[in-house]
Amino acid sequence: MSELRIAVMVKQVPDPSLVEISEDGRLMRENVPAMMDPYGKMALQQAVSLKCGKHIEAVSMGPMQAQEVLRKSLEFGADEAFLISGREFAGADTLATAKTMAAFLSKRDLDLVFCGMQATDGDTAQVPPELSVFMDANIYSYATSVSIEDMTVTQMYEGKETVCRLQMPAVITFIRAPPGCTEIPSMTDYIAASGKEIKVVGLTDLDIRPEDTGAKGSRTSVRSVATVIRKKKATEIVDGSDTTSAAELILKEVRP
Ligand code: FAD
Repeated sequence: MSELRIAVMVKQVPDPSLVEISEDGRLMRENVPAMMDPYGKMALQQAVSLKCGKHIEAVSMGPMQAQEVLRKSLEFGADEAFLISGREFAGADTLATAKTMAAFLSKRDLDLVFCGMQATDGDTAQVPPELSVFMDANIYSYATSVSIEDMTVTQMYEGKETVCRLQMPAVITFIRAPPGCTEIPSMTDYIAASGKEIKVVGLTDLDIRPEDTGAKGSRTSVRSVATVIRKKKATEIVDGSDTTSAAELILKEVRP
């Protein structure tokens, strides 16, 4: 088999252990150290650990500071790195983000796109399935491992393991890193990374209309953000001997 071409989607997120929520419910990213989204990192570790010939491209969409996570990706074994960045992409919801990233990925002649199952800031888990639609690729979510020798993907849903046949091209989202993988880059990859360039991709490099990206291309908008406070009620035992009055009592409780 010829060399596999894999893109790994890595997002820069604020450190979840340090980020705070403002009184109006906004995520306060200012002055919070940024890091590589942990699930995206797991996807990268999965790609690096594959035992076959492979070419790995780390891809991120975000501001210029997101070059940091791409530099880290190169240190962890990615061969190339691309940052999709520009003012036109600002304010993108998940749809516009996926459309933009797909416009880039579709030009790369890829076999596989590896993603985290969700990012720790936006947390929607919508981007990978949207990517698969725009790229006309199969989607495998919640994967724990991939075997290129057997052409299988192992997925984990609610404690149940499923082994599926892998059909490429495919987008795969990962819920974990491969067992025993190291948290420290190898010296060879670390040294090789320092000589590699991070290529910046702008709107004019993509076959996408300006109205399909950024805030203009977004179909959703955030009206308000609120913290949900769950009210715990004590358990109440309803006398069920008279079914009509018991039903009325329950209805009174559940009706808004
Ligand atoms: P998920 O779908 O949970 O991520 C799953 C996986 O997809 C990740 O692990 C990663 O592998 C991949 N992935 C997702 N996003 C990226 C990325 N950017 N680069 C590389 N890989 C990625 N965000 C802003 O920064 N600025 C804004 O102005 C802004 N405006 C928004 C407006 C609206 C109305 C909405 C709904 C969202 C807005 N966002 C904005 C958030 C932005 O849409 C999300 O950050 C982005 O679409 C990713 O969604 P997510 O974090 O839920 O990713």
